[in-house]
Amino acid sequence: MVNKIPHIVVVGAGFGGVATIRALADVKAKITIVDRTNYHLFQPLLYQLSTAVLSTDDISFPVRAMFRRRDNIDLFMAKATGIDGKNKVLHTNHGDIAYDYLVVSAGTTNNFFGMENVRKYSYGMKTIQEALHIRNHVLHMFERANKQIDSEQVRRQMLTFICVGGGPTGVEEAGALAELVAVQKLDYPNLNFDEVSIKLIEATDKVLPMMPENLRNYTLKVLRKKGVEVMLNTAVADCSEEGLFLKDGTFIPSKTVIWAAGVRAHGLVATLGPECDRSGRIIVEKTLQVPGYPEIFAIGDNAHFEQDGHPLPTVAPVANQEAVVAAANIKKMIKGQEKLREFSYKDYGSMATIGRCQAVVSWGYLRIGGFFAWCIWMFLHLLRLEGTHADITVGTKWLWNFISGTRLGRIITNIKFDEEQ
Ligand SMILES: Cc1cc2nc3c(=O)[nH]c(=O)nc-3n(C[C@H](O)[C@H](O)[C@H](O)COP(=O)(O)OP(=O)(O)OC[C@H]3O[C@@H](n4cnc5c(N)ncnc54)[C@H](O)[C@@H]3O)c2cc1C
Repeated sequence: MVNKIPHIVVVGAGFGGVATIRALADVKAKITIVDRTNYHLFQPLLYQLSTAVLSTDDISFPVRAMFRRRDNIDLFMAKATGIDGKNKVLHTNHGDIAYDYLVVSAGTTNNFFGMENVRKYSYGMKTIQEALHIRNHVLHMFERANKQIDSEQVRRQMLTFICVGGGPTGVEEAGALAELVAVQKLDYPNLNFDEVSIKLIEATDKVLPMMPENLRNYTLKVLRKKGVEVMLNTAVADCSEEGLFLKDGTFIPSKTVIWAAGVRAHGLVATLGPECDRSGRIIVEKTLQVPGYPEIFAIGDNAHFEQDGHPLPTVAPVANQEAVVAAANIKKMIKGQEKLREFSYKDYGSMATIGRCQAVVSWGYLRIGGFFAWCIWMFLHLLRLEGTHADITVGTKWLWNFISGTRLGRIITNIKFDEEQ
């Protein structure tokens, strides 16, 4: 009798999915990666795409190129739409796939907390398309404002840029926007830059909540020095094409609201039916299995795993570490072993940039802010980027940005030409 080799399907070629496949290197199995795109995206640098520092292929890498030396691995580019756990079938928009083991690592999407107008009128930043949309729109606003000579009010509305959410994404985006504005000053000598405003809005009383107090205060100081107005204890109520409504009744006229205030798991995971948390993440077993479906593992942003009484954050190291344990458990199951590994997260700390030459790093006893923290941040991000070409191009762009302060990616790419043009 010929033993059939198992089929492992991994949904998502993000941090968790790629780390799972790497950890399954020595397994004798057919592996299919299902992703709606054909690339792995390095989300932590999306904000640099949206603020004209980097370009698309600096922060993304083709999945097929990653695994071209392993002929048991294939990419199925499709959107996973549902999981039939009973019959072990993954539904996609390009057909069904039968699996023996399934790893769900489809990441998250923006969470607008049910505010429909916020979803409609604000700019999310979870995908390449969204980051490019922000870049094009922000650059466009400068062009429009430059020609808006009649109304200061309209110009101010065009030149008011709001980031909502004081986590790393909101902080990094606000700091990077402030620097982009400084570059724009050179290109628009006729614009009055006193009319430009960047606001960072946060519902709680702090930015970067995972950082110690001294680094949070340092972050606030640096942001304010860059000209960012940080509005703490400020909750969003609604949004329109003309601006943002706050819970205290204030209206901020603006054409640009960037939403970095929350994420939720893709609807895909809920189709399976297990218990999910408020963000739609599956509450997984200690082995990362989905309750009731031992052959399905949920990891990364799709898994709710509690440690020391708190759910783990939705960050890349959690996805990477969970991937290793999920892969180890699949190998054990293939070998027929019953005792599976339990997951335990090792937190090495966190970091965020506030702009050129300024970052905060909190690792164990090391808690620093400033230039040295920024060097650590850069070095580690270069290490984590996929592909040598990306290391070289990103390193060169950062060096040039450091020396000259300019942003060469100030290219508006979404203009539609008709045939006459
Ligand atoms: C702007 C931004 C900045 C961030 N900065 C940091 C940071 O500095 N440090 C940090 O540690 N973390 C950061 N994070 C969080 C980190 O990126 C995530 O925690 C991490 O990517 C989670 O890994 P994952 O594998 O669960 O999902 P992801 O890496 O998001 O991968 C999900 C994959 O699934 C695919 N997919 C989604 N839906 C489907 C579907 N229905 N069918 C098929 N494929 C699908 C996607 O295309 C994607 O390739 C940031 C996130 C964002 C958005």
